[in-house]
Amino acid sequence: MPVMENTPQYTIDLLIQKIIDGEKQYDLSKIVSAYEKAAYWHKDQKRESGEPYVTHPLAVAYILLELGMDTDTICAALLHDIVEDTPCTLEELRKEFGADVAMLVNGVTKLKRIPTVSKEEQKAENIRKIILAMAEDIRVIIIKLCDRLHNMRTLMYCNEEKRRVISLETMNIYAPIAHRLGISSIKEELEDLAFRNLDPFAYQEIDQQMNMRMEAREKFVASIKERIRERLAKDFDPVPQVDGRVKSNYGIYKKVYRDGKEIDQIYDRYAVRVIVNTVTECYNVLGIIHDMFRPIPNRFKDYISTPKPNMYQSLHTTVIGREGLPFEVQIRTWEMHQTAEYGIAAHWKYKEGIKGRDKDDNRLAWIRQIIEAQQESNDAEEIVRTIKSDLAPEEVFAFTPKGDMISLPLGSTVIDFAYAIHTQVGHKMCGAKVDKKMVSYDYKIKTGEIIEILTTNVPGHGPSRSWLNICRTNEAKSKIRSWFKKERREENIFEGKNELEREFRRNLIRISEEELPEFLAMDMKRHNCETIEDFFAAIGYGGVQLSKIIPRLKEEYNRKYLRDKPESAHSKPIKTESGVIVDGIGNCQVKFSQCCNPLPGDDIIGFVTRGHGVSVHKTDCINYLNSRSNPEDASRWIGVHWAEETSKNYFKVTIDIVAHDRIGLLADISSVLADIRIPMHEATARELKNGNANVMVTISIAGVEQLNAVISRLKKIQSVISADRTGK
Ligand code: MN
Repeated sequence: MPVMENTPQYTIDLLIQKIIDGEKQYDLSKIVSAYEKAAYWHKDQKRESGEPYVTHPLAVAYILLELGMDTDTICAALLHDIVEDTPCTLEELRKEFGADVAMLVNGVTKLKRIPTVSKEEQKAENIRKIILAMAEDIRVIIIKLCDRLHNMRTLMYCNEEKRRVISLETMNIYAPIAHRLGISSIKEELEDLAFRNLDPFAYQEIDQQMNMRMEAREKFVASIKERIRERLAKDFDPVPQVDGRVKSNYGIYKKVYRDGKEIDQIYDRYAVRVIVNTVTECYNVLGIIHDMFRPIPNRFKDYISTPKPNMYQSLHTTVIGREGLPFEVQIRTWEMHQTAEYGIAAHWKYKEGIKGRDKDDNRLAWIRQIIEAQQESNDAEEIVRTIKSDLAPEEVFAFTPKGDMISLPLGSTVIDFAYAIHTQVGHKMCGAKVDKKMVSYDYKIKTGEIIEILTTNVPGHGPSRSWLNICRTNEAKSKIRSWFKKERREENIFEGKNELEREFRRNLIRISEEELPEFLAMDMKRHNCETIEDFFAAIGYGGVQLSKIIPRLKEEYNRKYLRDKPESAHSKPIKTESGVIVDGIGNCQVKFSQCCNPLPGDDIIGFVTRGHGVSVHKTDCINYLNSRSNPEDASRWIGVHWAEETSKNYFKVTIDIVAHDRIGLLADISSVLADIRIPMHEATARELKNGNANVMVTISIAGVEQLNAVISRLKKIQSVISADRTGK
């Protein structure tokens, strides 16, 4: 773990300089005596880094100073570890620094004492303490957040186990609390540091990718900032502040790893921030920005009229610049900016702390809610859920391209979305785009996404049976089922028959077509099916669930049929024409796929086609690899293997040869093949642009071993550069 850059050497002089440079008034002598007290009591202690211990309370005090907290908070930060770790008492602090400082130190100390009980109880106990401390005085939790931030910054000196535990706690409890209190700078740094420790490889990967683009990125942001500033200078006096910013590594990680986006698709990884004086000016600037750059539809968010729960306010819009690169523009007033940066701490930085009239602060209301929830339940998981409630709600809200909001239960897919718009939209769906990117049918919707359902009017198009396993809502499921029941009798019969045959194969039930109606008579009657086709159709649309009837059928089969039909298939080797044995079937119509052209010795897999038997592919065939993840096809792939006896069978294979072009090349190739008695069916040669020639020869071959021998022989021909089998 690399040592953090930009970590200053924390001393009391640095702290004093920071106070003098700032605008806010502090009781400097009180702060200095708090420091002297801390330095005295910690004098024999060292940090894990080997530095004097007092550097830690100094660092915490410094971070709190950056947030603009008051004198008592700074003093409490300097003293926060001495009651716990040294003989100094709370009473002594109260006499010297007053009741407030003592109360704050006591609050932080109580948060730290970890009871020696089980991990779960310990977690619940810790959370309970945090909540009670917040209730007592919100400054306690702000000190705690800064304490945690400095510990996270210096986490590389701890062992791996400790790093993990502390990082997890930071990610699960402290970062969400910082978020709810609106202290975005601390929240982001806590998340980034925790992420760096929890998933160092992903962190590094993103860091490298972002660094690679650093120069281009800085140029890009600088040029946009300049253009916006120049344009705003025409209408505004004074000229609004224009800043650039880049999304945090953890923010990018969430989009890349959790939402499956490419870095290039993260529209808000670059952002420009415009800060003005009044709300009216915010909307004026928005108009100008949309005039200068093309806005991306539906990416506009008005957090001024609808603030976030942590009181964050801004206008967000995503636009595309001349370079074709999208970027986000955030527009806010200075007051909104203070709230966005410092959250609840802005009460101290810009006012005089929390007063009676701040009672309607949403962030304080949130703390009250948690306290109430905590009184009702001592379940740690429950309380963590409450704290994280606004980060991971049970419901997701997504938008149609026209901006209509649709709310669905968590875990819903684009199929659920389509049926929620309209039954016909679901039935006609042929694909979906999320934020302009094509997604698969099983894509799970996340809040804020814009979802476009692609539909087709091709007659006969309809939902796929596999959707039933993908969609989440009962509404979508019942609509899909009723469609199948009504619209697709032919297909239901076909699918039902296939499904029954597949289940029979899996359970080694072998019944001829003629015997089938008799064998199924009881189940047909029970499901009101007059004919065997009715029964197949019922299986097809899901009216008959095979999993429920198969066990009994298997038992009946074993009882009635098996006794008078000796099992012979397993004792004798199976003779096949193709040389391929299909698992569970044995000999059946088999063809070799054109795309990869399997040969004996290759690893192979079969695909049950509609009406043309089983087509055999190599297991590394691109078509197989693509198709097996498609839920509609997955069940049609079936195990196959080469029969022992395949020596009589020959397979056609094409070899792609590249050589320096010369006279007699083709003749040499055919004479080599004739030498080793390999029949050649076809040969084509063409000249390549670079003076090379490309020769394709199609030959008959018995298997992979022989093929490899032929290829190595061909490679020895003069001027041949490469010889490879075609088709992968
Ligand atoms: Mn500490």
